[in-house]
This record gives sequence, structure tokens and C-alpha cells, in this order.
Amino acid sequence: MKLKLAFRAYSLPLLKPLRTAHGLMPTKQGVIVQLQTGEGVRGYGEAAPLPGFNRESAEDCLALLQTVGGEIDPETAHELRSRSDCVYGAIQEAWSEVSRQLEKLSSARVAGTSNPLSSAPWQVAALLPAGKAALAEVDGRLELGFRVFKWKVGVADVADELVLLDDLLARLPSGARLRLDANGAWDRRKTERWLERCADRPIEHLEQPIAPDMREADDFLSGLAQDYPTPLALDESLVGADDVSRWLGRGWPGVYVIKPSLLGDAAEVISRLATARARVVFSSALETGVGARSALRHALAWTGERRALGFGVWPLFTDSQFDGPFQAPFLKAADVERLKPEAVWNALT
Ligand code: MG
Repeated sequence: MKLKLAFRAYSLPLLKPLRTAHGLMPTKQGVIVQLQTGEGVRGYGEAAPLPGFNRESAEDCLALLQTVGGEIDPETAHELRSRSDCVYGAIQEAWSEVSRQLEKLSSARVAGTSNPLSSAPWQVAALLPAGKAALAEVDGRLELGFRVFKWKVGVADVADELVLLDDLLARLPSGARLRLDANGAWDRRKTERWLERCADRPIEHLEQPIAPDMREADDFLSGLAQDYPTPLALDESLVGADDVSRWLGRGWPGVYVIKPSLLGDAAEVISRLATARARVVFSSALETGVGARSALRHALAWTGERRALGFGVWPLFTDSQFDGPFQAPFLKAADVERLKPEAVWNALT
């Protein structure tokens, strides 16, 4: 089967610039991909590389798609696998959407449509801004019903952030949990200082304390996971399928933060994690509703333990028509299925 290929690049201002240890992100760039059969059955995917994670940029994704042209066959799609996780992932998602719809069309008269995704609500972790701004935002999120939070750390002096940590924890009701994400900002000494402080506090996990390219990063992270009670989570260390394989091979005892949009063949990687009974947190790569829908569909198909979804990032864009599901502490398959990729596509004309 050959499909018509079209794509539209975007550069969308964020409602609030996102500050992490990687720097300040005022806009998000990516490319939306559309595949279409001759009969007009369409599927959408999104290449949403994250600065600080992927080695490829949105411009790289666009340039690669331009070399493919206006039509794509399975062989060409497969060849993209070794060239770009993000583009390959986007094509895969769009292709499976087309296949699903074709299947539905052929079986619609026989049986009603059944939703393979679990319909039970899944808790969502709210993303808090870095620094003191977290204190101002947490109350509103608590009011909305959020009980799991993620706070970006590693953007200021350790001593200052440790004071803020206690201020923030003091605002949380009992039973609420906090995830910390350093985005690879620390060295060994800073990491150990934080882990000592976290030991007797309700920290669900500490994400990526050191950068994956630090010397002997893998050994150091594995050692820390043994030495401290607070679970560690890998995020920047897991950019593609190979990284996930490597850490599964090492028997990583901590959490895997999985951004399905960045994995290339997300279904294949996630099934390997499931087989290994890995502890997985599904997480946003700051996609539009197109990529969010694909990523959340992968999450909702997960049969392992349900850790709060790292998708509490909305409202994200200045123009809300690009956003994923509304801001809510729980998410259901119906919320995801309500997202209309076509609307995002049309808004980019
Ligand atoms: Mg992270």
C-alpha cells in the first residue's frame, strides 16, 4: 500500500515559557504528518523533538520529510527508522491510524466498535514551574483535585531550592506526592545532597539528577539507586529504543520515564518494558493534541502498574486549539478519543 504524505511544520508560543535545567523554552517546534489513502482515509502523527533530549531538531525532521516527497510506501517508512526516531514515530502513528480506520470500515457492519483501551480513569501528575513560582501555582492545582505533582529543580542554587522544597511540601495535604525533575543539572555532590534531604520526605521519585553524557553516568546512577531510599527515574537517559534496551539489560531498579513520541517504534519498546515488568511513568514531550493523542493511547494500553501520567502540562499553548486534554487530575480513554487531529492540522494552514 502506498499513502499520500503531507506535513506541516509548527512553531507555537507556550502560554508560559517553560524553565528547566535545559534553559527557557518560549515556543515549541514540531511537524504534523498526514497520511492519506486514495479514498481519503486519513491518519495523523507528530514529530515533536524536545530540545535537550533529542539529537534531532524540528528542522531536521522537516528536512527529512521533504526528501521523502508526496508519497510513501512501507519500505520507505521502514528506512526512516534508522534516520530519525521522531519522524519514524510520526509516520508509524499516522499509518496505524489509517489501518485502524480501514479495519473499522470493513468490520463496521459486522460488529459495533469496541474500544480496546481501558476506560478506567488514570491519575495525572500536574507540572509545576521551576523555582518559587511553584508555590504560587500549587494551591490552584490542589483545588482542581491534583494530588501528584512534578517540580522542575536544578535551575537555582541547591540550598535555595532545598528551602523551597520544604515550603512546597508544607502546602501539600497528606497523601499527596511530589516528583522532582533535575533534567540532568547536577553533579555527584549535588545529587547526593538532594538524595540525603529527600530520604525522609514524600518524594515519589527523583528524575534524571545527572546528565546522561556525564562520565560514567550509567554506573553512578545505578549506584545511587542502591544507596538511597528515594526511587530514581531515568528520562533524558532514555531517548530511543537502544537506551531503553541498555537499561533493561542492566536491570535498572528505578522508574523509566517514557515519552512515547520520542521512541520511534513506541509500541515495540513499550511491550519490551511490559515484559520486563518495568516501573513506567508515561510522559508528555510537549506535543500538540496530535502527538498527545498517540502518546496517551500507548499509555492507556499499558497493563502494568498505573503510575500517575506525566501529562499534566495543559493548558500549554497560547492558542488553546493545539492543546491536549483539558487540565484535570484524572484522564480517561474518552478524553483522549475526543481529541481531533484534523482540527490541529487545519489550524496550521
Ligand atoms: Mg524529565
